[in-house]
Amino acid sequence: MANCSINKKPLTTRHEELFAMPTISSQMPVKFNNGCSWAEFDGYCSECGNKIDDSMVRGSLSKPFAHVAVIDAVGVCKPCRVLTVFYNRLHDDMRITAIKDGKWCTWEAELTLIERLKNWLLTK
Ligand SMILES: [Zn+2]
Repeated sequence: MANCSINKKPLTTRHEELFAMPTISSQMPVKFNNGCSWAEFDGYCSECGNKIDDSMVRGSLSKPFAHVAVIDAVGVCKPCRVLTVFYNRLHDDMRITAIKDGKWCTWEAELTLIERLKNWLLTK
């Protein structure tokens, strides 16, 4: 962790705190009262764009509202040694929102994610 940076900027205490928390994958799935659930969260490296290993994406997963879960996490890409910050909201209608360039952006979960989710549900 000490050798990491955020696009060459130094880490803050908050990032260290988040990285000391459990992995996000260990806190999944997120289940909502309407039956919708999120099976997994993929964090992508802001430097190389590759998926960051689940064991390196850590932070808090909370459900402050009935219809929304909030991921406040950091992920460290081993090859890049770069830390990426994740602040995402998972909604019970399978939308994800996140702050990008200072604005909240929304996108639908990819079909592949929904298919994986269905597969996951069917195997339970
Ligand atoms: Zn990377």
